Amino acid sequence: MSRSAHPAGPRHADVLPEGHYSAPPADLNALDPKVWAETVTRDEHGVLTVGGIDVKRLAEEFGTPAYFLDEQDFRARARAWRTAFGGDADVFYAGKAFLSRAVVRWLDEEGLNLDVCSGGELATALSAGMPAERIAFHGNNKSVAEIRRAVEAGVGRIVLDSFQEIVRVAHVAQELGRRQRVQIRITVGVEAHTHEFIATAHEDQKFGIPLAGGQAAEAVRRALGLDGIELIGIHSHIGSQIFDMSGFEVAAHRVVGLLEDIRDEHGVELPEIDLGGGLGIAYTSDDDPREPHEIAKALTEIVTRECAAARLTTPRISVEPGRAVVGPTAFTLYEVGTVKPLEGLRTYVSVDGGMSDNIRTALYDAEYSVVLASRVSDAEPVLCRVVGKHCESGDIVVKDAFLPGDLAPGDLIAVPATGAYCRSMASNYNHVLRPPVVAVRDGEARAIVRRETEEDLLRLDVG
Ligand SMILES: *Cc1c(COP(=O)(O)O)cnc(C)c1O
Repeated sequence: MSRSAHPAGPRHADVLPEGHYSAPPADLNALDPKVWAETVTRDEHGVLTVGGIDVKRLAEEFGTPAYFLDEQDFRARARAWRTAFGGDADVFYAGKAFLSRAVVRWLDEEGLNLDVCSGGELATALSAGMPAERIAFHGNNKSVAEIRRAVEAGVGRIVLDSFQEIVRVAHVAQELGRRQRVQIRITVGVEAHTHEFIATAHEDQKFGIPLAGGQAAEAVRRALGLDGIELIGIHSHIGSQIFDMSGFEVAAHRVVGLLEDIRDEHGVELPEIDLGGGLGIAYTSDDDPREPHEIAKALTEIVTRECAAARLTTPRISVEPGRAVVGPTAFTLYEVGTVKPLEGLRTYVSVDGGMSDNIRTALYDAEYSVVLASRVSDAEPVLCRVVGKHCESGDIVVKDAFLPGDLAPGDLIAVPATGAYCRSMASNYNHVLRPPVVAVRDGEARAIVRRETEEDLLRLDVG
């Protein structure tokens, strides 16, 4: 299997050497608040609890593996983003990180807007009552049926991703007698991950219309000439799991440069600028993400400064955090099935899930941490690799982690920061059933996405 040092992973392979877990943490039972949801703690027996309920009880009621999501923490993070950006900006939660109807209702109640990027995500959002005008529709290849549905529903904006789509959306809207508000997604030649970014002249990727070579300016020209659409702004999304704001600085500079050109050429000042998502979270204690208020301050300052320099009225800013809202709010609970010490190498700990509930380690070389959850232990730390039950040697959940030496089958272990891109990327590989997402709050737990059953699987298999 070829492993890429991928942008969406927490860090480039060349930033930290392989196997940098040289020393075990001082206390294996400790819970670093950076990686755990707000209400997670250990009770007087040492059992991990969330929202006031211990994981042994949760495992009994909901089984393992399962994702447990701290609703109070989710709402607090959503609110922190909303408050940080204030009334002059919009926060769109990126639904692809994790979407369910309960989540849509929480977002609605907390005043966030919502990004969707498929008919399925749009259907979920609408069925949970998210007002259509607060939905943005993304994607590099929306079908005509999806576009029609979005326009009919009255979504607040469609983010155009290609020349074909400019015409397609304008045509559908006109047919329906609408004027659809749109943004154009451009690529500004900035690719940002974690602690560094690359600024190039060209963008070799499928998303967006390149600023280079005057292509974005041409897209704007065409959009402004079509009756079915109203161009309200420019969109840029530069990467994922970003800690360093300087990539946004270069991106904003280039986007504002385009706004300036648009003003000079067409005499219009577009009222909105969307800087995308990609803000990083802590997967392990090594990660130091910024708080929403710091990010809001930095981004607002950058855009304001760039616009002042270009003598443009500062447009309304929007951002699209996904991971940074939901990622830290959930952990995955697994039951240990086998423990296999390999002399001189490490101990392989097999759990009852794996790459079907968390593909990020296999896909992006992502890093996670893990703790023994059903009890505390003062046994010596042992270097472990937490692996799943799939027929694939790359089926790794946590590549390097220290766990207590007395870890045994039947123990429950918990992997934090699995709220984003785990359930939403889950698969049925090996016909494994996808785990439930259980929301826990104030001593109550309820499945907001139930566990898949064999009946669910067989229903699709029509023989
Ligand atoms: C994926 C994506 C996001 C969200 O990214 P996060 O890393 O989850 O914050 C936001 N906007 C766009 C356009 C995206 O593709």
